[in-house]
Amino acid sequence: MDFQNRVGSKPGAGGMMTSSESNVARRERLRKLALETIDIESDPYFMRNHLGSYECKLCLTLHNNEGSYLAHTQGKKHQTNLARRAALEAKDKDHTAPARATASAPKVKKNVVKIGRPGYKVTKVRDPRTRQFGLLVEVTYPEVTEETKPRHRFMSAYEQHVEVPNRQYQYLLFAAEPYETIAFKIQSREIDMRPGRFWTYWDKDTHKFTLQLFYRNQARQRQQDGSAYQQQHSQVNPLNPYILTGNEPPQQ
Ligand SMILES: [Zn+2]
Repeated sequence: MDFQNRVGSKPGAGGMMTSSESNVARRERLRKLALETIDIESDPYFMRNHLGSYECKLCLTLHNNEGSYLAHTQGKKHQTNLARRAALEAKDKDHTAPARATASAPKVKKNVVKIGRPGYKVTKVRDPRTRQFGLLVEVTYPEVTEETKPRHRFMSAYEQHVEVPNRQYQYLLFAAEPYETIAFKIQSREIDMRPGRFWTYWDKDTHKFTLQLFYRNQARQRQQDGSAYQQQHSQVNPLNPYILTGNEPPQQ
């Protein structure tokens, strides 16, 4: 590829660029590079939200247009998160394929005998105030040791290799040795990750791991709910829907 002719690196353009100019040029160059090399529709982290802008599901960042999202995917934050996730997956793979893991990594490997699936209970929940639907998931791990803390993570339909990918679904995984990792297939809607909306709790005494999530309200619901929703959500900062300027219910 010919990098010489990209914006910001024109030979003979002359003069020093200020740092802000070079930042703009750099971003533009990254954006163009990404547009050439990335199929945005198959990117599992790319999401259009109900505000008409775009989000990175991996970094929870908001972008005004596809170009901005693509530039983000080439940036340090996204790349770091990708690497982190890849490392996490490699670790998960170690657990499912211990023989191969010992061959490639001569580290001390715990020899875990899986004892089956944990007990679980899933309850559909609805917040009467925000009208958000959600799930309360309780997983019980009676046999885990004192130092074990169950883990959870979301996985897109394209990351898993158990079922044929269907972009309408995502998976919510729970893991705690010596139990088998379990996954719940849930709607691929955006999860409301704001504090208080999304939480997990590990009760060491009862050995119960609890996770609650709410889906973000969708445009369809916004229409149905009419002005009440509009009023409630008019205080969402459109540049960052994760920050509410007024999270309290309207005063009477
Ligand atoms: Zn990202």
